[in-house]
Amino acid sequence: MGGSDDTPMATDAELDEFRRSLRRFIEREIMPFERKPMGEADRQDIQRKAREAGYWLMDVPEDFGGQGLGLTGMSVFWHEVSRTIAVPARDHSLFGPTPGPILLSLKGEQKACYLDPVLRGEKMTCFAQTEPDAGADPASMRTRATRHGQGYMINGVKRFITGAEKADFAQVIAVTDPAKGARGGISCFLVDMKAKGVRISARHQTMMGDAPCEIVFDNVEVAEENRVGAEGEGFATAQRWLTEGRIRHGSRACGVAERCLELTVDYAKQRKTFGDALAERQGVQWILADCFTELHATKLMVRDAARKIDAGADARAETFMVKVYGDEMGFRVADRCLQLHGGIGLTTELPIEKFWRDQRSFMITEGPSEVLRTALAKQILRGGMQ
Ligand SMILES: Cc1cc2nc3c(=O)[nH]c(=O)nc-3n(C[C@H](O)[C@H](O)[C@H](O)COP(=O)(O)OP(=O)(O)OC[C@H]3O[C@@H](n4cnc5c(N)ncnc54)[C@H](O)[C@@H]3O)c2cc1C
Repeated sequence: MGGSDDTPMATDAELDEFRRSLRRFIEREIMPFERKPMGEADRQDIQRKAREAGYWLMDVPEDFGGQGLGLTGMSVFWHEVSRTIAVPARDHSLFGPTPGPILLSLKGEQKACYLDPVLRGEKMTCFAQTEPDAGADPASMRTRATRHGQGYMINGVKRFITGAEKADFAQVIAVTDPAKGARGGISCFLVDMKAKGVRISARHQTMMGDAPCEIVFDNVEVAEENRVGAEGEGFATAQRWLTEGRIRHGSRACGVAERCLELTVDYAKQRKTFGDALAERQGVQWILADCFTELHATKLMVRDAARKIDAGADARAETFMVKVYGDEMGFRVADRCLQLHGGIGLTTELPIEKFWRDQRSFMITEGPSEVLRTALAKQILRGGMQ
């Protein structure tokens, strides 16, 4: 499998073969680290093996040295890597840098200065959209990029930025024309984290283990060449990232639910209470039946949305459904599986409690469920859904 020309049309057989071989790789090389720490040497060893096996730069076009998977192929990749807590929920860099759609759109000098070093592993980046007063509603952001000499001056604060501490540069979304707002008044800039006036002002430790940061931009001068695309295109550019991200959320939820259910089916068969296995109880059977039904529905939704986007269709509504239903399904299933494991489910001897914590967070980040339901409802009421 692979190749940007053929992947959007990838057959089920090709996708199944890709899934099987990737699953074997993850079970053999990565899952053992669920119960022991992964050191830097282990990390590099896994990265070397992933590169040799062809699991490297999966969504990066072949012209740039990647595998060129479309979203359908990537949905299988995200599903499989999410079956283990040994791959961090918000960092898939064991399989190479993950530049994201904004950097992949760069051309010429911008590509040479920012995308290429990221792909070579020489530079790291972060995506800075959220602000202290603008998270679920990013269009209300206040970070300003005002014209200054030949370029811009950026002032504002970004909050909850993943990877900010290690980043060499940030992809900053800022207001260039307040009157236009999200309709042509927001732009995207590549800002050096060492530039004068850039400073990390806080680190927020979360229950999942992630620690996103707050970044202050105080009179930061940015050259015009560091604007991505035309002025005013930034909001749409950022939304492209989030649309793809919604497929990642749905795929991830499938991987999490599937693994939790595998553990739970085994446990329910062998654990006896009051003289019978848990699996003999109708109350337990019905929970399993519901979980498998919801998981199956999510798999179909993810495949449908990914295929439509790969074929060039506008499937934003489908991606809203995938994120809301998928994230909530993943949490619900992890929660039920944790309950069925009793006390052992609460321990770190099993991966379920970590899946549960991570899944809880996904109903908030990259668009809370309520906001996506509202966006979907608007589309329905406009008559944009069949
Ligand atoms: C671990 C982590 C990593 C992150 N990484 C990044 C990153 O790399 N880059 C980045 O830019 N951002 C990042 N974020 C920010 C994340 O996307 C935001 O936290 C999220 O969008 C929610 O924004 P908020 O926290 O400001 O919540 P708020 O906007 O304050 O919303 C609070 C709650 O109000 C409810 N709500 C909001 N609006 C409505 C509505 N219209 N109707 C009904 N209910 C509503 C929802 O339940 C929501 O959860 C990260 C956050 C975390 C926790």
